[in-house]
Amino acid sequence: MTARLHVDLAALAANIARVRATVSPADLMLVVKDDAYGHGLEPVVRRAQASGVEWFGAFDVRTGGAVRATAGDDARIFAWIAASRADLDAALAARLDMGVGDAELLEELADAAREARATARVHLKIDTGLHRNGVRPEAWPAFVARAAELEAEGAIEVVGVWSHIAEASDAEDDQARAVYEAALREAASAGLRPTKRHLAASAASFARPEFRYDMVRVGAFCYGIRSAGGPSAAKLGLVPAARLQADVVAVDADDVRIGIGALDGIPSSLRGRATVGTPAGRRALRVVGESDSVVEAWPGAAVGDIVTVFGPGLQDEPTATDLAELIGTIGEEIAVRVSPLVPRLYDGA
Ligand SMILES: *Cc1c(COP(=O)(O)O)cnc(C)c1O
Repeated sequence: MTARLHVDLAALAANIARVRATVSPADLMLVVKDDAYGHGLEPVVRRAQASGVEWFGAFDVRTGGAVRATAGDDARIFAWIAASRADLDAALAARLDMGVGDAELLEELADAAREARATARVHLKIDTGLHRNGVRPEAWPAFVARAAELEAEGAIEVVGVWSHIAEASDAEDDQARAVYEAALREAASAGLRPTKRHLAASAASFARPEFRYDMVRVGAFCYGIRSAGGPSAAKLGLVPAARLQADVVAVDADDVRIGIGALDGIPSSLRGRATVGTPAGRRALRVVGESDSVVEAWPGAAVGDIVTVFGPGLQDEPTATDLAELIGTIGEEIAVRVSPLVPRLYDGA
């Protein structure tokens, strides 16, 4: 295996600045699930903090704890998956903001907070149509009423009201937003005063200003990963931060073998569909083996030449999203598949 993932931290910082400028005055929550979309949690969190990011979206409690260990006391860290009481205790110990979309979980978290003599920071989740663990609109009035009681008692502080939208069609997102607006009104009449209302991820945060509210939760765009079927990174003012490369390890008559394969994270379905970046421009990816792959040769190809599987797209190599589109997925999926065993090399630190 000669694969390595170069991560350009200066590009990450530039993308963060671009996202913050676009969504201002809304805050940016940088989403760092899946090891910061494969870019490496610690270096990403450190650089983001240096760029002024105060909120991190961690997905689960374990990742939230890792962000806390890296980012220190002042960072705000949002997690929205808790699997057990032990998770809730750990979330309180790490002072995470917890997304809660379930009445039972709210009670459990309040119990955990009472026992820890702490106040749990809570973001209440309304199900606006995606059916991914949010409270259904018909159960919402009772849910926010109960949250108000728990807040009055001091067990929780309701920091936010949030939801997640599909960002697949404007019409569907508009419908989701109408449900969200109704939920905000209901929360207000229950006496709640959430200061962080958040709904949008990457695509809506750029394209739909009315979806920004107080904060946007952005992953993909901060890493320079454009939406599949969406505008180019350049058009968005973003640069892909990661470059997946490998060396030529053997040269045949009209093939070269490169030291990267399916085990390193190249989807084998790209075989025969994708072209990759070589010193002579794009060449066909002919075979994806387990630990090496075969690329159409170019004149003068030599062992040690560097092939770029995906990159910023500035030198005619495909981007992660370009590859994703060939196999009907999204750029994030290509990025997070890069094996943790592939070394991450950081530039622009
Ligand atoms: C992954 C995720 C995001 C970020 O989505 P991007 O499209 O990568 O910006 C935001 N919110 C939630 C709940 C997520 O799971």
